[in-house]
Amino acid sequence: MNKDYGKEHWTHLLQNCCNNGDDIRQYLNLTDDETARINKISEQYPMCINHYYLSLIDPGDPEDPIRKMSIPSGWELSEGGEPDTSGEASNTVIPGMQHKYDQTTLILSTNMCVMYCRHCFRKRLVGLSDDEIAGHLGEMEEYVRNHPEVSNVLITGGDAFLNSNQRIKEYLERFIDIPHLDLIRFGTRTPVVLPQRITTDAEL
Ligand code: SF4
Repeated sequence: MNKDYGKEHWTHLLQNCCNNGDDIRQYLNLTDDETARINKISEQYPMCINHYYLSLIDPGDPEDPIRKMSIPSGWELSEGGEPDTSGEASNTVIPGMQHKYDQTTLILSTNMCVMYCRHCFRKRLVGLSDDEIAGHLGEMEEYVRNHPEVSNVLITGGDAFLNSNQRIKEYLERFIDIPHLDLIRFGTRTPVVLPQRITTDAEL
């Protein structure tokens, strides 16, 4: 693929992302078996590879690191291990907000990702939508105001930059004047996977 994706609007790239083996087989020269395997896994664990990110994969290299991060592997159907590796069930203080380490509260602001990483430790958990989480923003603000040990709020997901610009502004406005906060952080893979989210959206 030799197309310049730099100026393509991020929403267009996202809407046209590849969601299964059939969508990517022509770009990566997949066999019938490989295509069927990816189709099967993507029915259980979603995939979303936009054409810009797909164009970074070397189709001749099965060990390509971007390929390994973004394209489903048969290992994903193994049922071993612990589903809640970060202790989400025990650290959740408000729906969508975790307080595990003294100085950090974490907000799972959306259940959407710009690319579904094959190594994701949250893939077997189904989170709440951005609107459902935002319904608790007032409680979250109050919680942080009442916990002076918290020095930073990490707004993550899913991918925090899949929230609307207005919602991102709302998060900033909620927390920006809390005196004991040093940092408001956004957890996002867009600078790597979909930089157009930043470069083609002047409002952001
Ligand atoms: S962006 Fe984060 S939450 Fe989404 S799939 Fe990747 S690691 Fe998981």
